[in-house]
Amino acid sequence: MASAPPLALRFVTSAPSAAHLPDSPAEVAVAGRSNVGKSSLINALANRKRLAEVSKTPGRTRLLNAFALDEGPEPRATLIDLPGYGYANVPARVKAGWGPMIEDYLTGRGQLTMVMVLLDGEIGPTKLDLGMLDWVRHEQLPHSVVATKHDKVRSSKRDRRRRDLAVQCDLEPRDVLWVSAAKGVNIDTLRRRVRSWLLD
Ligand code: GDP
Repeated sequence: MASAPPLALRFVTSAPSAAHLPDSPAEVAVAGRSNVGKSSLINALANRKRLAEVSKTPGRTRLLNAFALDEGPEPRATLIDLPGYGYANVPARVKAGWGPMIEDYLTGRGQLTMVMVLLDGEIGPTKLDLGMLDWVRHEQLPHSVVATKHDKVRSSKRDRRRRDLAVQCDLEPRDVLWVSAAKGVNIDTLRRRVRSWLLD
């Protein structure tokens, strides 16, 4: 398949709640524990080195960081970088989202077309990740599991790891897209999917 061009993402704002987000016909939210590789992945999707670093700057780590996709009609569709679970620092609340703000955002946003749930493909799903997955299922939110750091697992172990990841998430192996931001593995596929979630 032909390669997919980078997503034309542009940082718009850090919002304390959905009410402060820009108008948008469609949104994709990206969720994952801190260190899962979320910023690296957003940078890889956009082919930009430091685009997502803004989400890690002081004062923004607990906010909804919005990136407009400068493609398609206006108003622009938006990718929302959610706070990493670790940063939110409320592990006990993860089963109920990870804080009322994010819970309200995810459950109240009519234009949310997908929640990308990131897992670290090197270490597998943690309790926090599985709690998140349970929660999005319970809320019946559209979601898609993406494993990160494909390059960190030896090629001889990858098939087994892919199956294990899927089993732990109660999914079929084909339902987990395993990417590497560092090596570009499956980034094309994910760009296509994000485009279709935002623009179709
Ligand atoms: P975030 O906290 O979820 O935004 O995670 P980062 O994107 O900052 O990544 C956390 C760490 O994992 C950093 O040291 C990254 O360099 C590393 N990392 C992220 N993605 C990959 C990847 O695809 N391959 C490898 N080898 N390391 C990665």
